[in-house]
Amino acid sequence: MMIEAQRIDYQTAIATICEQSRPGQRVISLPIARAGGMVLAEEVTSDVDMPAFDRAAMDGFAFRHADAATQEGAGEFSIVTTIAAGSNAASGISLGARECVKIMTGAMVPTDADTVIPVEQTSGYAEHGAQVTFHAIPPAGDNVAPKGQDLRDGQIVLSAGALLHAQEIAMLASVGRSQVLVYAGPQIAFAATGDELREPGEPLVVGCIRNSNAYCLETQILNARAEPHSLGILRDRADELRAKIATGLKRDILILSGGVSMGELDLIPQILEELGVRLFFRKLRVRPGQPTVFGVRPEGCAAEGDATPSPCPTLVFGLPGNPISTLFAFDQYVAPAIRIFRHHPRSLAPRYRGELAEPARKKKRSKDFLMLIACRAEWHTDKFLLTPLRTHGSADIFATRGANAIGYLPAGIQVAEAGTMIEFQHLYEP
Ligand code: AMP
Ligand code: MG
Repeated sequence: MMIEAQRIDYQTAIATICEQSRPGQRVISLPIARAGGMVLAEEVTSDVDMPAFDRAAMDGFAFRHADAATQEGAGEFSIVTTIAAGSNAASGISLGARECVKIMTGAMVPTDADTVIPVEQTSGYAEHGAQVTFHAIPPAGDNVAPKGQDLRDGQIVLSAGALLHAQEIAMLASVGRSQVLVYAGPQIAFAATGDELREPGEPLVVGCIRNSNAYCLETQILNARAEPHSLGILRDRADELRAKIATGLKRDILILSGGVSMGELDLIPQILEELGVRLFFRKLRVRPGQPTVFGVRPEGCAAEGDATPSPCPTLVFGLPGNPISTLFAFDQYVAPAIRIFRHHPRSLAPRYRGELAEPARKKKRSKDFLMLIACRAEWHTDKFLLTPLRTHGSADIFATRGANAIGYLPAGIQVAEAGTMIEFQHLYEP
């Protein structure tokens, strides 16, 4: 039986999706350079001290501080040898009174030395055996990073659940990891529905339009670090929809674009229910994207005539077909479910506040709806300025050129004047 087509508000919709979303259990091993943006699924410990030896932090001369501090002619040292980064010569060097070595940044400081003076504070590099003058003696220990200062051998570097940014990838490399275990993104089946759809590259028949949503969705799925599986274009016929949707229900998430409004051929909600999907909502108090459908098909559930029960629960999103609706609905409703699946530390994209640079208006019928507006957000001196991009409606994807944010015009107001502070979220926040 069809659920009551009752409109629910944005917050309830997001809360319902988050409640129904489950962290995925699949773990994969990736080369570290491909693991950025993924979430770590293991504990990583260090296999070295960092630094692994007393390391020179500057190009200069390594010397014994006591020699400089106590003896007459303290600034005069004779050069014994040179130690470059990567050389292990330092371990065999012993320094006599007022002897020093030329040393390069990153090189091992000889055990006999304790301080490095930068070359700029001396008379400069000279031949072995020559004298060098130190103009001002730095404090003892200066410019030497002691062994183990940053990290100890065996210490935990990162724990499971850490989001891997570039700096965490650098940490993994530093402790010798070339591969790393991360939580796999969800497998997402997606389809565009509609008799009118033609693929780019096919001839365009009168009355038809190009399928743009499938390409928009695939890009968003990849950006969210999930795995897209295209089901192609589905025609508005119950048998075709039922067969392809049943296939899609074997994945972690199924996204359908189109076919969820109130038209005669908008068959999807009913077919979903026939296939065992529990629908949580099918209408929102949000524009664009009012007829958005969300449901879950439980694990182990098999549709009538389907011999293989689904191995995992499947979240199902039916997004309205207009291109801006699809673009926004993925970002608002599907992306949080993907983050939860990927064990991302935060399920919702961060929100900011910005000042409208121009007035933003709703149609009268939308006054009591939350309205999502495509904006250009730019930082000006001390705040974000939001320029709403004027559209001819939610089919007008061309109006979103250059949009980098979704602004929120709350329910209850019809016009927000220039200067009003509103909340926004960056588009494409992974
Ligand atoms: P629907 O949600 O199926 O009622 O579609 C709403 C509007 O979006 C109609 O004008 C459709 O032609 C259009 N539309 C549906 N699917 C797509 C698609 N994949 N790409 C571009 N436009 C679409
Ligand atoms: Mg349609």
